[in-house]
Amino acid sequence: MLTPAVTRESSHPVRLDLAAPASGSRRPLFGLDAEVLAAHMEKIGQSAWRGQQLAHALYRQWVTEIDEISTLPRKVRRALAGEGWTVDRPQIVQVFRSVDGTERYLIKCQNGNREQVPNPPPDSSAETVETVWMPDGDGGEAGDSSDGLEMQPAARASSEGEATKMRNASSAPGLAAVLPVRQRKTWTRATICVSSQVGCAVNCQFCLTARLGLQRNLNAGEIAGQVVAVMARHGVQPGRDRLNLVFMGMGEPFLNYDAFMAAVRLLVHEVGLSPQRMTVSTSGIVPGIERFAQEPPELRPKLAISLNAPNDAIRSAIMPINGKWPIQAVMDAVRPMRLRPHERITFEYVLLGGVTDRPEHAREVARLVRRSGLPAKVNLIAWNPGPGLDYAMPSAESVDVFQEILAVAGVPVYLRQPRGRDIYAACGQLKRTIEE
Ligand code: SF4
Repeated sequence: MLTPAVTRESSHPVRLDLAAPASGSRRPLFGLDAEVLAAHMEKIGQSAWRGQQLAHALYRQWVTEIDEISTLPRKVRRALAGEGWTVDRPQIVQVFRSVDGTERYLIKCQNGNREQVPNPPPDSSAETVETVWMPDGDGGEAGDSSDGLEMQPAARASSEGEATKMRNASSAPGLAAVLPVRQRKTWTRATICVSSQVGCAVNCQFCLTARLGLQRNLNAGEIAGQVVAVMARHGVQPGRDRLNLVFMGMGEPFLNYDAFMAAVRLLVHEVGLSPQRMTVSTSGIVPGIERFAQEPPELRPKLAISLNAPNDAIRSAIMPINGKWPIQAVMDAVRPMRLRPHERITFEYVLLGGVTDRPEHAREVARLVRRSGLPAKVNLIAWNPGPGLDYAMPSAESVDVFQEILAVAGVPVYLRQPRGRDIYAACGQLKRTIEE
């Protein structure tokens, strides 16, 4: 496992880079915020407010050519193009559609920086990343009890029968059209699961993404661009449509902290999305949590901690990162966080059959959460199988019992509905799987 590189610097807004493209090269404007764009406009002899117009075109109108920016005079558009600037943003290049409506995308990022990890892969694999669209609910990340399955003992998230059904689904997963689907709007709310890195260094033993290792960090434009690419595909309008974002795709956001938070600011200030409808999940990177705790509550996503085990012994076995930052250290890092009214910390808990799903584990988790003193809820996730992963799905009965024990102990508990398992789009399954 790579050693996570996180500094203990206090939080600060990240200056997005405005270095002009090298001669003859192309460089995307997408990823630069309105302030930086305004500075560039001034640099080329224009009024600063032209930067706002440019930001509006990039992040609200989603233009695909500089010439589509009708608010800018032609000579300004030509000047930008002449300097090598483009309006390119990450593009969906493959779509896999689940029987449940979930879509998994391979998204091509044009503006990556491969120097960020040693020995980057020689092929083009580090240029694509995965993003998931889940229409009609996210299974609990909204944090307002509106999207998950709240404690309902009869709820069945997982069973062998379901796995069989999934494998035999007549509507087999496949490559769907990459074209926009705006004309077929059938959802009333949706969630986009966003990646922050290509691959991941954290090495959780139950996760397919971990098998890739860390290939590279994404930059702010590549992270925010995934969201805009999916919004454009589905015609999502900020303010009209109810959209949740979960930063739970490939990678550990707190190991790419600056780019992740810069992307959040772009999405809030420029794209117009609410941070209250965003959730970031961390495996427990303590220095990252400490920085996040200093962010203004009104400008940051909600926090989810991937707990996944009732104690350090089991957690270290399935999440080696626990050896560096054990459960107590993670809890201590979360404690100073200023929360918004009614905000709760989410503890994500993957139920691994026979490993973390026993009644005694549930009782231990209940004690852990209550003793933490944090306003918290627990999101249960029945483990999603993947090729080469040597774990078992929990039985429906063990899921029910686990949920009931937490509820009876007074811990708010939700069961995340599995989404897109048949196309490897569910939690922990993102590994650019292309087999049908
Ligand atoms: S579960 Fe998350 S943090 Fe752990 S290896 Fe997978 S992507 Fe990385």
